[in-house]
Amino acid sequence: MSEIAVLRQMVRGSDNIVFFGGAGVSTESGIPDFRSSDGVFKLLGGISPEKALSRSHFDENPQAFFNFYRKTMVFPNAKPNMAHDKLAELEQAGKVRAVITQNIDGLHQKAGSRTVIELHGSAERNYCMDCERKYPMAFVLDSDGIPRCVCGGIVRPDIVMYEEPLDHRTKRLAYNFIDEADMLIVAGSSLVVYPAAGFVRDFHGRYLVLINRSDTPYDGKANLVIRGSVGEVLNLL
Ligand code: NAD
Ligand code: ZN
Repeated sequence: MSEIAVLRQMVRGSDNIVFFGGAGVSTESGIPDFRSSDGVFKLLGGISPEKALSRSHFDENPQAFFNFYRKTMVFPNAKPNMAHDKLAELEQAGKVRAVITQNIDGLHQKAGSRTVIELHGSAERNYCMDCERKYPMAFVLDSDGIPRCVCGGIVRPDIVMYEEPLDHRTKRLAYNFIDEADMLIVAGSSLVVYPAAGFVRDFHGRYLVLINRSDTPYDGKANLVIRGSVGEVLNLL
């Protein structure tokens, strides 16, 4: 049986599927990931995105942080791809219970998914660090240098920077969904960023499926590994 046929059969037999995705879920929408050959790391000539997007870098040099952030992390014209669309459809059909994402691009919601857990926050939300006034993404994109609130405070994206902790409740919610799932589909993540690896380790449902273009440290633990592009693969379901 082909891998797709196996995947189809697993999906048919499950009504509590959780999808966990990384940056690879949005590369087919034209948003670069970090670690692929055409990812952000290479685009920037070897500057580590982990460093450029860290809290200490933000505190030391907010201007440089925002230059990097606008150039590599915000894509207002990106559209959902086949992966986002199929997951929204599977949720509608009562198959997918939750999408857990490391991405900050909001594309799952744009495709129509309702239960989306954004582990790393969202570029769509921004707030003043002094008075907490909210600002849209366009405000950060269109401002020169450091975006400033009417009160003078810095307007930052509501994303989790490197060195910052994940929101406790968001993480727990994700763990609860995974704990109850009978199928976990993990796609487009190199599975080296915390807590991605923990999710895979803690899953104890029936089917663990990994869809990725390159190897991951958890391939050996999966019931099914599909080497391919997540949008193309999910579209065949
Ligand atoms: P990563 O860059 O470390 O790994 C991406 C993985 O996806 C790689 O293994 C690559 O081979 C694979 N891949 C790329 N395109 C694919 C495709 N179309 N189909 C299947 N596999 C594909 O990404 P990560 O593990 O998610 O970690 C990077 C961190 O950076 C994340 O935590 C995320 O928050 C952030 N990030 C977010 C975005 C976004 O919001 N779209 C983009 C870049 C980085
Ligand atoms: Zn303010």
